[in-house]
Amino acid sequence: KQVATILGVPFSTRGFAGTVDDLVERIENGRKTHVVTANPEIVMLAREKRSLRAILEQAYVVPDGIGIVYAARWTKQPINERVTGIDLLEALMAAADRHQWKVYLLGASPEVNRLAAEKLAARYPGARIVGYRDGYFQQGEEPAIVEEIAEKAPHLLFVAMGSPKQDEWIAKYRDQLQAILMMGVGGSFDVIAG
Ligand code: UDP
Repeated sequence: KQVATILGVPFSTRGFAGTVDDLVERIENGRKTHVVTANPEIVMLAREKRSLRAILEQAYVVPDGIGIVYAARWTKQPINERVTGIDLLEALMAAADRHQWKVYLLGASPEVNRLAAEKLAARYPGARIVGYRDGYFQQGEEPAIVEEIAEKAPHLLFVAMGSPKQDEWIAKYRDQLQAILMMGVGGSFDVIAG
């Protein structure tokens, strides 16, 4: 694994195309992966919050935010471009379209979530959207949500609940969720819903 360390957080140095290649290969091999698109805010937060640091140490972390690219440059580490959640989502959906992968969309408001599911289904007809639900639920509902996702066993699970909440949620349930690639995508569903 090619890694740069920014304030203790290990970042992939593979760039956008290399990251997509890595992730597609991991999915084909059924290798469970939590992708975190990390910006300077989450790196700073991880300095104070040990549980978040532990999550980042276990994840495939990509440089979101130009501040990470600059920090790498100052420390002479080979990160040359940003890798954003929305761009990765689109590239992974294109791969899902080609491979008929199963996709689950969790997060955003009910309206945005439904619209995002409709638009992605239309744009990537080969991808199988096996489930979608909004990101406003009570903690007591979580076991049922986790069970539903585990039953559907998606290749891709996108979680749009804001950073770092989405990544803490993924880390908490990653062993129970029968998903291969899990990624927090922030406000991406809002962007896709238009
Ligand atoms: N969201 C959610 N559940 C929550 C809080 C937020 O589903 O409890 C959604 C919100 O509707 C939006 C996304 O999470 O779609 C957060 O987007 P934002 O751009 O704020 O993400 P960030 O930049 O904080 O990662």
